[in-house]
Amino acid sequence: MNGDTAQTGPERSLNFLEEIIQEDLTQGKYKSIVTRFPPEPNGYLHIGHAKSICLNFGLALKYGGKTNLRFDDTNPTKEDIEYVDSIKEDILWLGFRWADEFYASDYFEQLYQWAHMLIRKGLAYIDDQTQEEIRLGRGTVTTPGTESPFRNRSVEENADLFTRMRNGEFPDGSRVLRAKIDMSHPNMLMRDPIMYRIIHAEHHRTGNKWCIYPMYDYAHGQCDSIEQITHSICTLEFDVHRPLYDWFIEKLEIFPSRQYEFARLNITYTVMSKRKLLELVKAGLVNGWDDPRMPTICGLRRRGYTPSGIRLFSEKVGVAKRDNVIDISLMEWCIREELNKTAPRCMAVLDPLKVVLINYPREKEEYMTAPVNPEDPQAGERPIPFTNELYIERDDFMEDPPKKFFRLRPGGEVRLKYGYIIRCDKVIKDNEGNITELHCTYDPESKPGTGTWRSVKGTIHWLSAAHAIQAEVRLFDKLFTEPYMGNIPEEKDYRDFLNPGSLRTVKACIDNHAAGLANKAVPGKDDTRTRIQFERLGYFVADYDSTPERPVFNRICTLKDTFAKTLKRP
Ligand code: ATP
Ligand code: MG
Repeated sequence: MNGDTAQTGPERSLNFLEEIIQEDLTQGKYKSIVTRFPPEPNGYLHIGHAKSICLNFGLALKYGGKTNLRFDDTNPTKEDIEYVDSIKEDILWLGFRWADEFYASDYFEQLYQWAHMLIRKGLAYIDDQTQEEIRLGRGTVTTPGTESPFRNRSVEENADLFTRMRNGEFPDGSRVLRAKIDMSHPNMLMRDPIMYRIIHAEHHRTGNKWCIYPMYDYAHGQCDSIEQITHSICTLEFDVHRPLYDWFIEKLEIFPSRQYEFARLNITYTVMSKRKLLELVKAGLVNGWDDPRMPTICGLRRRGYTPSGIRLFSEKVGVAKRDNVIDISLMEWCIREELNKTAPRCMAVLDPLKVVLINYPREKEEYMTAPVNPEDPQAGERPIPFTNELYIERDDFMEDPPKKFFRLRPGGEVRLKYGYIIRCDKVIKDNEGNITELHCTYDPESKPGTGTWRSVKGTIHWLSAAHAIQAEVRLFDKLFTEPYMGNIPEEKDYRDFLNPGSLRTVKACIDNHAAGLANKAVPGKDDTRTRIQFERLGYFVADYDSTPERPVFNRICTLKDTFAKTLKRP
């Protein structure tokens, strides 16, 4: 993390937004603050939006203000009600409640009237130039623009043309309304920016009522002002828009909302743009918006992330003024911290290999005891059935192991976690030479809590074969192979960096407690799934595909950070 990100914990110093707000409140500039979260309903929210949500709602909560949810629906061709619903669901799931729900389209009439007001003040005009002419007329960063031949139309003509634009008399692209500012302004955005364009398209809320739509720069600040937003927080790339934001408010003499910018959240090994995420979904490169590998809120939810884990991550990331990239392992650390304290421990064996204890009575069944959660003594103990046939992980046995392999090998001993020490006597193979079974003997004196404790180097986990339940386990890895996806060369496509090993589906056996959670998975905000730890393997949760007949578990994260150490900054 950068030096300019906030520290965490109750004693951390104020971030720059908190400083501004405290100052404003102390000086009595506002009685209370109003923030807003302004998504465009053109895709599902991602973890970057979660950061913005936590920030906007968090500030209002901290300072006793309120936060509006405002859909920035000024782009009729890309927006859809499906996205509106998913956005609301995601915010609620994250644990926030908005004061009011608004739509930029609610304000179309007001925005239109204000545009007329600017025309009457001689501060806006109808331009008949083509898009290309307008673009060329803007000039460049080093050369001033040239004024449009339509710039000095009379107020009456402008007002008349604008009314007729609204009435649908002109085709798409034939005219625009532009603010009349300064064609040689050093800030290119101030060179007579476009306020309205003609789009004959159906809008998901206003239908065919409108055929002119306001541009972001004309709509956003005015919507903020209507709602009396005191602190309009957006990402850094909008800092060049601020003079324009202020210009409209000043000329219209409306409530003076103020815009503040912070660095957008970027995370290693993933992309964070709705356009790219939509492409991945449409091309079938992932299994939908809620694919557990996606950085979307619904993807993280399906994977098993908790709202509190995401909120903690947002807090840890802090509020930066410079762009940076946050290591994805910080996100995993946040959820791991929480789950370590809360997740009941269970057993699962991936890619099981059968172990037959030849000296253990066939009919016998006994119970070992293990803590439900060693981090939480209140959680009590759980019984683990033990019989003469067990499953262990295939990876926990090697016929011809290297020196430092402390798990099971021919002739070697290992402790079964919470159980006996066993020794491998015989390796059974099929005709093709695949290992199908191990014959072992157990040491009856080695049961924990009885006799004297004998220690051996390795401990492995296991399940009684008779009690084990078949399941599918999905193991995820990072979605892309490249940590800094923002740095990939322009001639390359981000899709070329997809990690082919990002999803591994493994056959597994699980214990009955885990199996009992298999049918508790409901998509959506009312997710009540129990997150569990499969010992030695990581934290897991039942996937939505899970049924009592066929349990499916997602790995939320491993027990330890597996790839942060290998990360090198470019
Ligand atoms: P994208 O670029 O992913 O399409 P966007 O900025 O176009 O995102 P909006 O729906 O306009 O998406 O965003 C809603 C709010 O979320 C905005 O205030 C925006 O600044 C904020 N936001 C979007 N992406 C991030 C991010 N990566 N980090 C922090 N805030 C973000
Ligand atoms: Mg946007």
